[in-house]
Amino acid sequence: MSDAMSHEVFINGKWRVGGSRATLPVINPATEKVFASVASATVSDLDEALASAELSRKGWSSRPAKERGEILAAAARILATKIEAAARDLSAEQGKTIAEAAGEYARAVETLEWNGTHAEELSAPIPMGPNRMIVPEPLGVVAAFTPWNYPAVLIARKLAPALAAGCPVILKGAEEAPSAAVHIVESLHQSGIPDGVVNLVFGVPVHISRHLLSSPIVKVLTFTGSTAVGKQLATLAANNLQRCILELGGHSPVIVCEDADLGKAVPAISEYKFECAGQSCNAPSRILVARTLYDEFLSRMTEAARKIRIGLPDDAATDMGPMANARRIEAMQRLTKDAVERGARIETGGARLDRPGFYWPPTILTGVPKDARVLHEEPFGPILTVAPFEDIEEAIEEANATDYGLAAYLFTGAADAQKMMINGLSAGAVSVNYLKGVSADAPYGGVKQSGYGYEGGELGVRSFQILKMVNGLGSFG
Ligand code: NAD
Repeated sequence: MSDAMSHEVFINGKWRVGGSRATLPVINPATEKVFASVASATVSDLDEALASAELSRKGWSSRPAKERGEILAAAARILATKIEAAARDLSAEQGKTIAEAAGEYARAVETLEWNGTHAEELSAPIPMGPNRMIVPEPLGVVAAFTPWNYPAVLIARKLAPALAAGCPVILKGAEEAPSAAVHIVESLHQSGIPDGVVNLVFGVPVHISRHLLSSPIVKVLTFTGSTAVGKQLATLAANNLQRCILELGGHSPVIVCEDADLGKAVPAISEYKFECAGQSCNAPSRILVARTLYDEFLSRMTEAARKIRIGLPDDAATDMGPMANARRIEAMQRLTKDAVERGARIETGGARLDRPGFYWPPTILTGVPKDARVLHEEPFGPILTVAPFEDIEEAIEEANATDYGLAAYLFTGAADAQKMMINGLSAGAVSVNYLKGVSADAPYGGVKQSGYGYEGGELGVRSFQILKMVNGLGSFG
């Protein structure tokens, strides 16, 4: 395996570094110092990855799905043994706490396991009465592009279903947080995955995506990241009509109704919002509170935000580490300044911490005018807006007033109100009386500018399959 401090590319079953490959620095966001590097794939690396993936395709797709599943299950067991060390690497390069990183790896293991367990059943023909059936077939080589916020679980959510379906993958890991890709690919390698079936590259994202997507070998594009980049990739994919699965940004509302139990709602929001310093696509970012509860909610939420212990991500006493990179700090500054200039009030936080590292404190903004950028651009950081509403229709309208539609949350025990909101909210996922993210067994996908296609569960595997409809004049067999 590659040295922990110098991450390599993995092509056709071999780790590679050096040669004419440039290296990119990896920065520790808690110190702002370079502490590792990652090899940048050359054009010939990319061509070799394409050729080896294509060469491995027939063998992998015709291998019994049960055996593909067993390899995934074995990789899950191997990855589980690495969690402690891998979580330290992830925390150092991303800034999340070690507990958060270990929790993320546990979900990556679970995702590999789930897809391993279900590979056979989801590759089996689906009968449609006596004379018809659907035969699932793997679509072919997948180009997977993954971001730096949850590099372990987001890689698992792409690799595991694609491999279970019988597709080889060329994965571009996140250059800023590369170790998760290395640990997961190495686990697959150790579990006996054939050469060429998984390839890992890093480099200048735009060069890599352009090169891979211009190849007719690639049949599927799967990407998690910003809406802007998702659209660029979908445009490139249009030339070869590659299937796209796009998990893009979010700007998730939480509706707190007048009967909500604040003793449950406030800690749940605080815990989920400030995980990974708010850099989750489905983190809540706009809280709408029934007018009668507004003052009490704001006071409790502000107190909860102030209690978050900010510190070094490898200190067990830390609740929230730094943001992942300087771009996020600039975004927090820009969004806060814009809101305040338009008349918003800062209840807590609102300025970068005066210490080394990309630290931005939990920030709550109130009185935010509707045209403020923070209500429309994905904050992707520890900023929350809080606003009152008069009735549920107004709350739904406000909740839907962004271009995004990934997740929405609501707190109420009233069945009618729950029904109205579940039906009225434009979101791929709605959670009632708690906050929940992705899970291995359930589909997750956005609407509007949050993307299209699904990851997770059965639909996650189907995303990488052709569902061949077979009509028989007589009976089969
Ligand atoms: P960005 O849009 O430049 O990059 C996001 C991710 O996409 C990065 O991992 C990057 O390496 C990758 N990427 C960028 N250009 C690419 C290309 N041409 N081909 C392939 N991959 C490419 O933005 P950023 O500054 O890194 O992140 C900030 C924004 O990205 C956030 O505001 C958020 O909207 C979004 N984001 C979303 C998620 C998510 O989970 N949906 C994750 C990370 C970032």
